[in-house]
Amino acid sequence: MSLPSSVSPAASLDAGLNRAQQEAVNYLQGPCLVLAGAGSGKTRVITHKIGRLIQSGLKAEQIAAITFTNKAAAEMRERAKTLIGKQAKGVLICTFHALGVRMLRQDGAALGLKPQFSILDSDDVTSIIKDAGGSTDAATARQWQWTISAWKNKGLNAVQAAAQANGDEEQLIARVMGHYEERLTAYQSVDFDDLIGLPLKLLQEHESVRAKWQASLGHVLVDEYQDTNATQYEVLKLLVGERGRFTAVGDDDQSIYGWRGATLDNLKRLPQDYPHLKVVTLEQNYRSTSAILRAANNVIGPNPKLFPKTLFSELGEGEPVRVVDCDSEEHEADRVVARIQSLRAEGTLQAAGGQYREWKDFCVLYRANHMAKPFEKAFRKANIPYKVSGGQSFFDRAEIKDLCCWIRLLSNNNDDPAFMRSVTTPKRGIGHTTLGTLGSFASQYKLSLFEALFSNSLVSVLPNKAVGSLHEFGRYLNDLEYRAKRTVGAEAAKVFLLDWLKEIDYEKHLYDGEDSEKVAAARWTNVLDFVDWMSKRCGGQIDDSSGAVTEAATKTMLEVVQTIALLSTIQASEGDQNVVTLSTLHAAKGLEWPHVVLAGVNEGLLPFKLEDDDGLDAAKTDNLALRLQEERRLMYVGITRAQRTLAVNWLRRRKKNRDTIAGIPSRFIAEMALEKATIKEDPREKLKALRAEFAKKSADSIAAAAAADAAAS
Ligand code: ATP
Ligand code: MG
Repeated sequence: MSLPSSVSPAASLDAGLNRAQQEAVNYLQGPCLVLAGAGSGKTRVITHKIGRLIQSGLKAEQIAAITFTNKAAAEMRERAKTLIGKQAKGVLICTFHALGVRMLRQDGAALGLKPQFSILDSDDVTSIIKDAGGSTDAATARQWQWTISAWKNKGLNAVQAAAQANGDEEQLIARVMGHYEERLTAYQSVDFDDLIGLPLKLLQEHESVRAKWQASLGHVLVDEYQDTNATQYEVLKLLVGERGRFTAVGDDDQSIYGWRGATLDNLKRLPQDYPHLKVVTLEQNYRSTSAILRAANNVIGPNPKLFPKTLFSELGEGEPVRVVDCDSEEHEADRVVARIQSLRAEGTLQAAGGQYREWKDFCVLYRANHMAKPFEKAFRKANIPYKVSGGQSFFDRAEIKDLCCWIRLLSNNNDDPAFMRSVTTPKRGIGHTTLGTLGSFASQYKLSLFEALFSNSLVSVLPNKAVGSLHEFGRYLNDLEYRAKRTVGAEAAKVFLLDWLKEIDYEKHLYDGEDSEKVAAARWTNVLDFVDWMSKRCGGQIDDSSGAVTEAATKTMLEVVQTIALLSTIQASEGDQNVVTLSTLHAAKGLEWPHVVLAGVNEGLLPFKLEDDDGLDAAKTDNLALRLQEERRLMYVGITRAQRTLAVNWLRRRKKNRDTIAGIPSRFIAEMALEKATIKEDPREKLKALRAEFAKKSADSIAAAAAADAAAS
């Protein structure tokens, strides 16, 4: 839409913003905090402020906007593009972690990192910790990993962790942390926490790097500020320097990542650290009806107030919030199907009024990933298209990553992370000491691990036996690569892949690594799915851009591999599909849908398992109270995702491990203080009535058309 020439650009950016939002957007001289409840347009402030900053003369490249997830970053990029056009492309819109990667790739050399350092995911880390702890079982390793990560988030290294460790167990973990650190250095690898911790170190210890970043960034904007952790806050402070040109937006009532180290202290500290901080509060909610907003305000009421806030909506009272009791998980899924179908049918009747409901207008939210299963089943049966977000994508599964690493290494020998994973998965008697030495040798001579392996002088740093094993691995890779290049077509690809899996004994590796046979079998099935998926693509039977089955030319294995990375990114940004969303509450942060169902709102699910800590000492009771507050905020986040209708389900009987137990409605349902305590609604009855009405209407319109025809003739 083009604007009349008399409208100044600033005014055009102000359009679509209320007074308080405009104030935040137009305040450019110093630090600014927007503190407001859900749906009040905080994220909108960030997108508009990007535009305002560019108008004020900043180059796009001087602006960084930090979001909580990659998905949120993609969405913000899209919105900024609509608002300010292609200039938005230059703005750095990303998560704290992605910013960390960028800083380390550019300046990590100051810390001794190679630019192509590897980023380890959580599974890689578990297995390194397992080894570093002397072959610990997976569950313990994950527990240690958790503690080590918490320490790292507090800015502690292994030595500092040991100094403050309480008791033998923590001392032990601190020692494991020491071994873990050594390995990461040797492998030129970093973990997720390092993506925040190392940039901080870089900014703290290297004056010139700090000066460079401060000079290059004119303004930093941070969304979901309430969920930043202490290290991220330090990074932010050093990035913006004394001048403090930043805008943070957040809501203390939506802080739901305390369990991962996020801290509300960051909100409390801002006014102390920046006495000139401009604080803007927003009070109008543009997302939800009054009925929904009231329920949300009532739920959050009992939590202690960090900053008192009021929130109102002018979208009218709207439909009452429904509480729906269900007999079991399956019954709940059926009721949700019926609810969606009935709301869709209703929408069809009102189509003229712009009320038509698409699949993407619906969302079902739950506390834990596994709760998606019954809904998936019921949706498939009812032909309702859906996507599961917040769960694991196929390409994120450990076994699929193992295989992708091998194939990545075939197509790019210099991919060090892929090398590390392949050479140790399955284990082939090449130990960590050998790999550590290979790693230091490679970084000393600026070689990739694969290049280093064939270097003549390797024998000067490693015993012959170790060099022999490395050579054997290198020769095997060369041989595989040779075969892969000559593998064309679906059938040949399948043979190639199955041969290779047999040669490396991957199935045995899966069964050895899993305590449960059932889990191992499920993983092996995924592997076979992957083989199928790959070979179909080699046969040219599937077009990767459209997913359509085609008769296109066959491809070599290596050509196919190159599209894998692309495919996983397509999966990650499928925001615009017209499908029902199934999501965890945590992954729904910042998003909105016209029609929302909160599923399984039971004691033990939401709030989650508080009963485990029953009858503990005072410190634990305090901890329990804090956990309950965070669960309450999670409920608040859930309720406030809804724009027009909200149903809150609870289960009369629910599964717990292998048993079925009596279900108790969550205390949060009572806390919503709905006018009629439980407003029951049977969607099946409603659907029946709607169908009848719909049938009558179409009969009427057919009759009317026939009458009109008759009159015309
Ligand atoms: P959350 O706390 O959930 O992250 P938020 O405060 O970031 O919410 P937004 O997502 O920015 O809120 O806005 C909520 C909805 O209100 C969006 O659909 C947005 O487009 C709309 N909105 C925001 N501000 C205005 C406004 N001034 N006029 C009309 N609609 C607005
Ligand atoms: Mg937001």
